[in-house]
Amino acid sequence: MERFNIELDKDTRKKLDDVLQPIILRDNTVERIMSIFSKHMELANSPDENHRQKSDLLMGNSFIRELLDGTEQGDFLGLDLGGTNFRVVKVSFKDGQAETTTRYYTLLESVLCGPVAGVFDFIAESLADFVGRYSLNNLGKKVPLGFTFSFPSSQVSINQSVILHWTKTLRCPDGIGDDPVALLEAAIARKAKDLPVDIVAVMSDTVSTLMAGNYLDQNCRIGLILGTGCNAAFVEHISEIDKWTGDDKDPQHVIVNVELGSFGDSGCLDEFRTDYERELDKYSNHPSSFTFEKSCAGMYLGEFVRLILTRLIREGVLFNGTGEKLLEGRWKFTTSHVTDIESDQGTSTTKTMEVLEKFDLATIATAKDVAIVREVAEVASRRGAHWIATLMAVLVNHIALPDVTIAIDGSLFERHPKYHNSMMEILNKFCPKSKVKLILAKDGSGQGGAFGAISALRQAARDLR
Ligand code: BGC
Ligand code: MG
Repeated sequence: MERFNIELDKDTRKKLDDVLQPIILRDNTVERIMSIFSKHMELANSPDENHRQKSDLLMGNSFIRELLDGTEQGDFLGLDLGGTNFRVVKVSFKDGQAETTTRYYTLLESVLCGPVAGVFDFIAESLADFVGRYSLNNLGKKVPLGFTFSFPSSQVSINQSVILHWTKTLRCPDGIGDDPVALLEAAIARKAKDLPVDIVAVMSDTVSTLMAGNYLDQNCRIGLILGTGCNAAFVEHISEIDKWTGDDKDPQHVIVNVELGSFGDSGCLDEFRTDYERELDKYSNHPSSFTFEKSCAGMYLGEFVRLILTRLIREGVLFNGTGEKLLEGRWKFTTSHVTDIESDQGTSTTKTMEVLEKFDLATIATAKDVAIVREVAEVASRRGAHWIATLMAVLVNHIALPDVTIAIDGSLFERHPKYHNSMMEILNKFCPKSKVKLILAKDGSGQGGAFGAISALRQAARDLR
């Protein structure tokens, strides 16, 4: 680990170690978490409903069994609803190459916590804007659309699902139990009647990211989101899924959506959690749920760091015991502040000082304070990366192929300069039989939505044969 060239006096070093050492995941903890996670995967896979109830994981059928094969032709749309940003993506295939056009639309806070119909009205209007802008209404046919809907849902078929919870920034008072495709179709009928689109697939962002990743790298078997939220999907053999019976259709594999953000909701991770994670949960949008997600996703990392810093301030280790803006600024310290701090290299402190400036701390911060802030950001980030890599190690070992690529989308992974290497520390150590590669599938969750539409059409054609 970097020590930023500052020797802390013995007393400070000891106090800092007392706070930071318990945050570091030791190898034996990693092994124990791996085995608990495997157990929950097995439970979720059981034919016995009582066993499945005991699992924190969904391990849901995505109904997506076809990956791209290079013969794709024509135009497809992807919609990506993840949290604050909503994206519309057009993918046009020409000579086997995918050309992607993306447009972002920002959902207002008032819409995010209002009735679910308002969220879908916004989506329908944005989609209509996109269709108009790119002249998709003059094609004389409907454009197939894949809807990436990044909230826990139980899939009923390739284009029908049931919303189970809201997570992250969404706090609608209703919508639970509804089908996102039906909600979207109703909103289109209200706001953009006769829009020439055909919603043929709905999927998790992990599923679409996997598809986008597999298009980039044939060894990709896992799609991972490390953004506002966190979750993964992987390619499974149908024969391994004990809870399904009588499915002998080809292809003999399917993408499974793990919904791993809720891992720990049964209390199975309690002994590994810190007071900071407990406090953060208490003040989050959806308390006592999505335990694992709160230990590593982008929506929470900044607050985790802030809570450690406030403890150090209170103990007089940092900023001479002051720092009102930081002490009182719940959720004001964001993950992008953490990634900024982590971008300072060697002895440079420019980025860290810019962040401290925002909390009125730049003028009072000593070289020692800056070194401590950087160390806290590093240890906290590394913990998040190790947590998620621990679960990825279980998936990689389960897949048991010599080469496994994990495609990752999300701003946390994209912007954090050290997340990749920290994750690899765990994967190299705990996946002895596979060579693991982590690739960024930038905007893969939106692009993969369009790929999901292709997959759905291909399956429908196969089922007719
Ligand atoms: C949701 C998942 C989603 C993940 C990443 C989580 O909050 O529960 O369904 O895949 O965020 O966007
Ligand atoms: Mg997203």
